[in-house]
Amino acid sequence: MTKQKWHTIPYEMILDVFHVKKETGLSTKRAEKLLEEHGLNQLQQAEAISPLSIFFNQFKDFMVLVLLVATLISGLLGEYTDAITIIAIVILNAILGFIQEFRAEKSLQALKEMAAPHAKVIRDGVLQTIPAVEVVPGDLVQLETGDRIPADIRLIESNELYIEESALTGESVPVSKKIETITFEDLPLGDQKNMAFMGTLVTRGTGLGIVVETGMNTEMGKIADLIQSTEEVETPLQRRLEQLGKILIVLSLALTAVVVMTGIWHGQNAYAMFLAGVSLAVAAIPEGLPAIVTIALALGVQRMIKRKAIVRKLPSVETLGCATVICSDKTGTLTQNKMTVTEIWIGGQDIQVTGTGYDPNGEFYQGSYSIKPDREGALKRLLEIGVLCNNAHLVEQKEKKGLLKKEKSNYMVQGDPTEGALITLGAKANLWKEELEQIWQRKKEFPFDSTRKMMSVVVQKHHQQMVAVKGAPDVLLDRCSTIIWDGKVIPLTQSIKNHVKQAIESMAGKALRNLGFAYKDLKMGENIFSEDLAERNLTFIGIVGMIDPPRNEVKQAIQTCKRAGIKTIMITGDHQTTAMAIAKQLQILPPSGLTVNGQDLYNMSNTEFMNKVEDIYVYARVSPEHKLRIVKALQSNGHVVAMTGDGVNDAPAIKAADIGISMGITGTDVAKEASSLILSDDNFATIVAAIEEGRGIYDNIRKFIRYLLASNVGEILTMFFAMMLALPLPLVPIQILWVNLVTDGLPAIALGVDPAEKNIMNRSPRDSRENVFARGLGWKIISRGFLIGLITLGVFWITLQQNPSDLTKAQTMAFATLVMAQLIHVFDCRSDISVFHRNPFENKYLLLAVLSSLLLLIGVIYIEPLQPIFRTVPLNLFDWILVTVAGAVPTLAFGIGKLFTRQAFSLRKA
Ligand code: ATP
Repeated sequence: MTKQKWHTIPYEMILDVFHVKKETGLSTKRAEKLLEEHGLNQLQQAEAISPLSIFFNQFKDFMVLVLLVATLISGLLGEYTDAITIIAIVILNAILGFIQEFRAEKSLQALKEMAAPHAKVIRDGVLQTIPAVEVVPGDLVQLETGDRIPADIRLIESNELYIEESALTGESVPVSKKIETITFEDLPLGDQKNMAFMGTLVTRGTGLGIVVETGMNTEMGKIADLIQSTEEVETPLQRRLEQLGKILIVLSLALTAVVVMTGIWHGQNAYAMFLAGVSLAVAAIPEGLPAIVTIALALGVQRMIKRKAIVRKLPSVETLGCATVICSDKTGTLTQNKMTVTEIWIGGQDIQVTGTGYDPNGEFYQGSYSIKPDREGALKRLLEIGVLCNNAHLVEQKEKKGLLKKEKSNYMVQGDPTEGALITLGAKANLWKEELEQIWQRKKEFPFDSTRKMMSVVVQKHHQQMVAVKGAPDVLLDRCSTIIWDGKVIPLTQSIKNHVKQAIESMAGKALRNLGFAYKDLKMGENIFSEDLAERNLTFIGIVGMIDPPRNEVKQAIQTCKRAGIKTIMITGDHQTTAMAIAKQLQILPPSGLTVNGQDLYNMSNTEFMNKVEDIYVYARVSPEHKLRIVKALQSNGHVVAMTGDGVNDAPAIKAADIGISMGITGTDVAKEASSLILSDDNFATIVAAIEEGRGIYDNIRKFIRYLLASNVGEILTMFFAMMLALPLPLVPIQILWVNLVTDGLPAIALGVDPAEKNIMNRSPRDSRENVFARGLGWKIISRGFLIGLITLGVFWITLQQNPSDLTKAQTMAFATLVMAQLIHVFDCRSDISVFHRNPFENKYLLLAVLSSLLLLIGVIYIEPLQPIFRTVPLNLFDWILVTVAGAVPTLAFGIGKLFTRQAFSLRKA
């Protein structure tokens, strides 16, 4: 089938082709059928890594291959039990590695899906948000600033719609879109101005269109192969650990070589030493480290999802723990974004409005007198403009409540809450949007944008045409030349302007968000081509003030940030006085803290700003462009900056921030794509929760690095010391492999999900340049590992002294001591201070891992058929006491030492 030239067909015909009405869109049933017919609206994915290849990758490790060859040799030499057991252990190890990696891979995949884009479609006459992959040909898609186009679309409506198509055409200047049919067939994509293509971005305006192609049939689908790139998901820590892993391999190999050569030199059997050496190398090389890091990251990221934070870029998990500043939007992030108009100022008069939320029941009062707004000319006009210059909808939901199942109405807003509050306000005066829109028809819209801080529409009724404008009152005032005062239109003199400004300040001082209203009559047929023309020479009517209460949990979260050494900064497009009032309520603004507005910022030189930036806590009436400057200034002062945003223009600042955060509910696709973290509830407190998790994840990674490496140091040193002292082998190869599999594996994973320490948000942020081994971790690994090696060998030596002919007993004792020492040491790894600072029963996974390791140890010692395989003999009670006491030494010695030094320190302080 040849492809349709959709741009050459009038959209009415296309609607007919798909049997779709502009008002109702597809029915859900038909959409489901079309989805079956056309498939998911997605580009073909690059092949995901198959489970089989993950499994076989486990055997690619060089040392495992050497071990397999060694096993083969021992098999050929007739050591069948050894060979079979080693192979069994290698396979078990591979299965464990596979489970770890597979799980990590799956969780990463699930994360990608969570952050997948959505589209706004009209189905069954209702505007709804669906996953972009479910969009089908025939769907009516609504487009707004910041949306990424979900499929190829023929436009039906365009209000100042501009689309940036560089992903497709390479042209970065946004294209103005129209709806008129174009007759030329062979036009480059950039000239098909009545089309919107999958993957391109709405940078301005609003629109409506019908989907004509989806998935691989779209223009983007044609070049899909060119743009498929695998995203890098490795974090800096993972990369550093990989490098470290390489160093450790060389070191382990060198030490193993020394062990093997010294053993042979001291007269040990060369073949036995070779096998022991290879096993030691396998055990000593922390090959599981990267997989466990990925698991700790992935599981941590899943915990974050439960706390409503979706991580888009894995490296940000590490950066979260380093954040020193959070720059947060006010509306919706610090506040609830549930607006209710409570006050109106009009021509010098104050009017109070009653009612709660979006419930359209409420009264208007002037002092104690109730007034009828529909009889007040200017007030009625203000309310009408509020409703007409508006894209939100009030939706009534009926609910049966209580014992008598009385029907109760619940009102919700679809769209911008600020606009929802204005529709509710109009409804309180009986001015319903649906009815008003029948009377006044909208001819044109100049959509709201946060730089202009205004929105206007051109509406027409019979032979009357007017521009209706609403916006930030202080900005709007400068666009007005007249004002309605006492029912008359009079010139807006400086003294009246001052009156209005006072009214604005007075409302803002009460933490009210305020909005001004103005209009201009037009001649019939007069055409307005630009917002600049529409929004000048206006007549000012009045101001409304709406409450937007702070979110309940935010005050607490800000206190937590203070304790955690993180500064909170409010950045808002709202009025300075409103912003300050809310910042004070939330205790963001300390008494000596500064507030600046967009104009102040504009007038400040870079050096001036850099000198002041540490003292500024509130930025008001700023445009999104200012955010980038704020991020840069903070960063050059050494801060690690978390920055929130939701609009298209916020994207550069979000990208430049160390942790770019976007809003799950109100955020645009562009902001989400630029961000590394999405707040699914738009809530500031979620950022703090994510930081807490980020700190916890990093701590846990340090915990198991410490455990694994200290264990490995212990294993190597046991063998090393023995060979240096010309003793027999303290551990046989199978025991070494068993320790590597059981004792090192399970508890390390359990440490990866260890609950965070209680004081985690009472510490200062971590330095982002900090080495993983910083803050004493390197010393802890070496000192604990050294002691583990020493006591294991000590127990081996003592047992051998008691009965020099029973090497197996001495080896069993060494084996049990090594395992016990590691299993006790794992509890020490949970705290940066000492083992006595954490409740050992807190982490049930760790208890389970330790208990199962112990049981498996008892199993290989007491189950008779296993004894010849693992070269063990049963131990008596006295042996176990020695094993346990010795095993506790490396942990207790340091724990008790720490208690004394801390006591001495606090005594000295007192
Ligand atoms: P934040 O940046 O904290 O989210 P904000 O929502 O107040 O705050 P903007 O959306 O940039 O920031 O709004 C700036 C100002 O523009 C508001 O204070 C208000 O006066 C005005 N305004 C907001 N929404 C609209 C709208 N839909 N139509 C007209 N004017 C609006």
